[in-house]
Amino acid sequence: MCNHKTCKKLRTKGAGNGVGVAVFEQYNGSIPVIMLGHERGGQYKGEMNMCAGKLDHSDQGCYIVGAKRELREEFKIDVTSVNFDQIFKNSRTNRVRVMMIGKTPIFIGVFHGISRDPINKTIAICNSTQRPHCEQEMNFVNWIDIRTMSPIDTKYPNHKISSFATSFISKFDLSRL
Ligand SMILES: [Zn+2]
Repeated sequence: MCNHKTCKKLRTKGAGNGVGVAVFEQYNGSIPVIMLGHERGGQYKGEMNMCAGKLDHSDQGCYIVGAKRELREEFKIDVTSVNFDQIFKNSRTNRVRVMMIGKTPIFIGVFHGISRDPINKTIAICNSTQRPHCEQEMNFVNWIDIRTMSPIDTKYPNHKISSFATSFISKFDLSRL
């Protein structure tokens, strides 16, 4: 078990063994978007969903380690300890932004300069080869405008947004970004 203040607080609040990450960006500097992935299987198969999963053995009960692992596996995004604070901490309060959906903590990250195409290229390579540690959970990722709940353009196919992602976005206060 880790000693992160954030994780301790989440345990106190009754967090379960799931964890998720909200990947926010300002598309073109002005459109508030969230990255969702098209699920290849499981409960949300065929739907656009957030990066989320269950803590695994290697996370040793740490939600931060689990969140970073899920980001790497599902969205091919590497967050290091160096840029973690910059992405996940509110600069005014100096606290990690995290919100519970049911018993699942969702870490709220504000990213700058990530784009769909290189991520989708990596996903396609992963999905077409049998490699260990190359998770194949998503078909592709897309940017969803959180004000309209629609994709920002027609570059990638439009699919239903999962109830999980809808629930998170509807409860999320945009002013927290
Ligand atoms: Zn932790």
